[in-house]
Amino acid sequence: TYIVTEACIKCKYTDCVEVCPVDCFYEGDNMLVIHPDECIDCGVCEPECPPEAILPDTDPQADQWLSLNRDFSETWPNI
Ligand code: SF4
Repeated sequence: TYIVTEACIKCKYTDCVEVCPVDCFYEGDNMLVIHPDECIDCGVCEPECPPEAILPDTDPQADQWLSLNRDFSETWPNI
């Protein structure tokens, strides 16, 4: 799965949302998250993210963000 990390905070772009084939992005006040169980691992959003906030969960920097993406995607609205 792919997840959204710190560089997304206060980002104004939603290029990632537009390319996601399964609409698994969720929006909070300051950032977006990906629902890790809905993401089909296609990878098309990663190069579309201007601040490079989207990482595969295998990236060491993504580790601490996985549970946050899951928890917030359960409570924030789908976009
Ligand atoms: Fe959506 Fe694919 Fe990105 Fe997962 S990797 S969030 S399915 S665009």
